[in-house]
Amino acid sequence: METRFFGTREEDIQHAAEIIRQGGLVAFPTETVYGLGADALNPDAVAKVYAAKGRPSDNPMIVHISSKNDLDRLTIEITEEMKKLADAFWPGPLTMVVPARPVIPKVTTGGLDTVAVRMPSDSVAANLITAAGVPIAAPSANLSGRPSPTSARHVMDDLDGRIDAIIEGDDCRVGIESTVVDMTGNVPVVLRPGIITPEQLSRVLGKTVELDPVLRTRPEIKRGQELLETTENFKPKSPGMKYKHYAPKAEMVIYKGDRDKVLLAITEEKFRRTECGQKVEIIMFDDDEPEIAAREFFAKLRACDKAEVDVILAAALKEDGVGFSVMNRMFKSAGYNIVEV
Ligand code: AMP
Ligand code: MG
Repeated sequence: METRFFGTREEDIQHAAEIIRQGGLVAFPTETVYGLGADALNPDAVAKVYAAKGRPSDNPMIVHISSKNDLDRLTIEITEEMKKLADAFWPGPLTMVVPARPVIPKVTTGGLDTVAVRMPSDSVAANLITAAGVPIAAPSANLSGRPSPTSARHVMDDLDGRIDAIIEGDDCRVGIESTVVDMTGNVPVVLRPGIITPEQLSRVLGKTVELDPVLRTRPEIKRGQELLETTENFKPKSPGMKYKHYAPKAEMVIYKGDRDKVLLAITEEKFRRTECGQKVEIIMFDDDEPEIAAREFFAKLRACDKAEVDVILAAALKEDGVGFSVMNRMFKSAGYNIVEV
């Protein structure tokens, strides 16, 4: 298939929206990562998204809307708490899991009777959804298992020839995927950490929002096994969290502990590996600016792939606030290959 490339002008958006309405696939920028969009109410279109990405079919899509009023079209019940979070964080990088209306195809929800909904703040994304006139189901626009795409170039590298069109917008400001919060129980539960933290959600709701306990556990990885095969003690409510994710082609090792010790250990390991003829790259972000780490992390992994690096040595960030969310991605990228120093 020949992939068409669009800019972000009004007429480009109209063409792209028409492709969505016709059941095609369009990759588009959002503030978090690039998304691969299809008409969320068209099961054939959504099925094509799974095929293009090579995504397991039990891993549901986030449905994107461009007006808070559209939440009503997707869910059977809007609670006061959903309203509060929508008012505080929409448009923005927050996804709410809510009871699904039967009109939403099972292929969109991965067979669940809940649906994940988000209203993005990126103007290109918002204009595309409005122009399409339908909610847009969109996972990240990468091949399944590869680092999430934060620029149009990353999308081309993975999906050129596999999808109908790509809207070439700016690089993503947030750089990690949205915070996913499950609103279907008595207490809201964060299923996937993002740039909006549980503390921020708790403040708005005036009560403590919980973290899905699996986010605090590390699955035991046996050598040579994919994360997927270790699910016995690892049953996240968010199906996507159990799959191997974000993997660079290189081996990746995370060093965790006191920063000075980490720096020393990484320097020594780099020396040792280089002596053996390996190409080594270091990923180290400032602990005090986890937002920058979020914005740049996936792009750095992809740059390492392009440079055909053999091993990536990465320094862990402090696991609080946004740092916790970045580390959630970093641990998975490294297949939980962690050295404590
Ligand atoms: P992605 O589209 O790649 O950003 O992934 C979407 C994430 O949202 C995955 O981790 C999904 O498992 C999660 N998700 C989507 N819909 C639901 C749902 N109805 N219940 C729980 N998690 C969901
Ligand atoms: Mg993804």
